[in-house]
This record gives sequence, structure tokens and C-alpha cells, in this order.
Amino acid sequence: MSWTRRALLAASQSAWLRGRAARLGFVRRASGRFLPGETIDAALATARGLADRGLTTLVTHLGENVGDRTEAEAVTRQYLELLDRIQAAQLPAEISVKLTHLGLDLDSELCLANLRRLIERALAATAPANQTVWIDMEQSPYAEATLQLHRRARQTSGNVGVCVQAYLRRTERDVEELVAMGATVRLVKGAYSEPPELVIAKKADVDENFFRLAQRLLGPEARRAGVRAALATHDRKLIARINRWAAEQGIPHEQIEYAMLYGIQRGEQLRLAQEGYRSCVLVSYGTYWFPWYMRRLAERPANILFLARNLFGG
Ligand SMILES: Cc1cc2nc3c(=O)[nH]c(=O)nc-3n(C[C@H](O)[C@H](O)[C@H](O)COP(=O)(O)OP(=O)(O)OC[C@H]3O[C@@H](n4cnc5c(N)ncnc54)[C@H](O)[C@@H]3O)c2cc1C
Repeated sequence: MSWTRRALLAASQSAWLRGRAARLGFVRRASGRFLPGETIDAALATARGLADRGLTTLVTHLGENVGDRTEAEAVTRQYLELLDRIQAAQLPAEISVKLTHLGLDLDSELCLANLRRLIERALAATAPANQTVWIDMEQSPYAEATLQLHRRARQTSGNVGVCVQAYLRRTERDVEELVAMGATVRLVKGAYSEPPELVIAKKADVDENFFRLAQRLLGPEARRAGVRAALATHDRKLIARINRWAAEQGIPHEQIEYAMLYGIQRGEQLRLAQEGYRSCVLVSYGTYWFPWYMRRLAERPANILFLARNLFGG
């Protein structure tokens, strides 16, 4: 991992920087490229615009690692309101949550209870396409607990999905279990700084692992088991390779789902939708955007130039 990436990921965990950067207008302006706004209204207005162009939305309220139960309760209520607003507006949108935002650090039973409240509320949506509650995957110390809570949540209802990271060595085994249970799975490369022994070191090998895991999640056994896979990447070469392979297997476009972040590869998002693939955009909102934005910079240090232009552009 490059020193720039390491420094940005370290910055993402600094409360000191978070407090200061949020007050700097130019950082906030630059983050706007990935963040349409801080409110539910802003997120839903963006979702409406995307829906008009044939794209679905995954909405997330930014935040992680809440410090007490009151905060976890406030976050859960915020998501309940979001689900109600999505339903009222009849938008093709789902939500994605971080378990540490729902209280995982405080009490895993409380976190599961909060997750179940969201799952139940999502089930009330009239369109089945809006009923899934997605769970993000956070740093590796949370991986086991996240997968366990996902499994327990699934025992009462199938409308829950979980993210897995291709950079983690354990993911191959986790994907086998998820395929066996016919789960709803989002595959990503992984966004955090991790201990070297847990991850695949070379980027090219992570990309290769993503491809193999995507093949597994779209393969005949997974489809028979009812797996829904969302391939969350902006990597156009990888997407083209997956699409070529899927065409050889005779997998119809509409059974392949891609997900990307708002503001990144917009042309590719639209192109995929126009070609009949399912194309979803993750839209984040909220005031706790600093750690999230640092992870976006770490993914592509060229984004720092964009930040610098906002600084000098006034
Ligand atoms: C819908 C969605 C949900 C996600 N959920 C999680 C999660 O729960 N847990 C987790 O660990 N990670 C999550 N991620 C982040 C993911 O792990 C990667 O860090 C991120 O997607 C970048 O990897 P990539 O697959 O796009 O490939 P890369 O090889 O990193 O990038 C490929 C190309 O995409 C473009 N690109 C990628 N990132 C950026 C960027 N930030 N700005 C501008 N261009 C960029 C560049 O052109 C780059 O060359 C999620 C990503 C998406 C899209």
C-alpha cells in the first residue's frame, strides 16, 4: 500500500482532523462531488434524478462507531424515517447501514434489535425491489460479528444483504457459506487499511480474486440457491471482463447488478443501465462525511488534485 493511501486512511480515523476539516469550506465543497447534500431531501432528490435515467439507488446515512445508546437509537430512527420517505416517494431505492452505526460496539444484541427494526420496516414497502436492507462491511475486526449478525437477521427474514471484501483472504470461505444460504451479497474490493497477514497484498491479485468471487456469485449453483449479487466496483476493465464471461455463460444482462458511488464513473453507470444491466448508485448524506471522504481520496489519490483545485479556486 502506498504511503499516500496509508496517510489518507490514517487521517480518516482522526477525530481531531474530522472536527477541523468539516469547518473548512473548500474541503466541504470538494466532498460535494461525491455527496449531493447533507439531508434526506438532498439524497432523495438525487435518487429521483437517477430513477428518471433508469438507475436505482442505495442510500446511506453517513456515520460509524456511535458512542452511546441514545446515538444508536437516533441513527435507527433516522433510517426508519428514510425508509418511510423512500416508500412515500415510491423511489426504486434501498438502504445500506454500518453495524457500528447501529450500536455494534456497545452491545451486539442492541445492534441486532435495531437492524431487525429496519428489516421489518423495509418489508412494509410495496415494491419488492425496495425491501432489502444492506449491511456494509467495516474493518476486519468487525467481519466475524457482521457476518454472524447477518446470519441471525436472515433467520427471521430474507430481506437482508451483506457486503464482503475481495482483499480479505477469508472472503473466499465466507462467499461459500453465503452461496450455500442463497444470500444477498455485495462484492467490493475493500476500503480500509488492514493488517498485511489478513489481506491479499497485490492489487492485481485483489482484482483477480474479485473476478473469481463474482464468477462464484453469478454461477449456476449460486443462481439455483437464489443468490442476489451486487458487484460494487468502478473498475471498467473488470466490469468488461465479467460481462464477457457472463455472456459466454448465457447469463442475461438483467441478472447482473453493478453498484457504484455517486459522482464516480457516471458515464459507465448510465451505459450499463442502457445495456440492460441493473445499475445502482450509492448516495450518501449526512454531516459525518470526513472519514468517508478520506477513504474516497485514498481509493484514488488523483482526487487530491480535485481537492486542491477547490482550495485555490476559492
Ligand atoms: C456501492 C458500493 C458500496 C461499497 N461498500 C463498501 C463496504 O461496505 N465496505 C468496504 O470496505 N468498501 C465498500 N466500498 C468501497 C470499495 O471497497 C472500494 O474501496 C471502492 O469501490 C474502490 O474500488 P474499485 O472496485 O472501484 O476499484 P479500483 O481499482 O480502486 O478503481 C478502479 C477505477 O475506478 C475509479 N475510482 C475508484 N475509486 C474512485 C474514487 N474514489 N474516486 C474517483 N475514481 C475512482 C478510478 O478510475 C479507478 O482507476 C463500496 C463501493 C461501492 C461502489
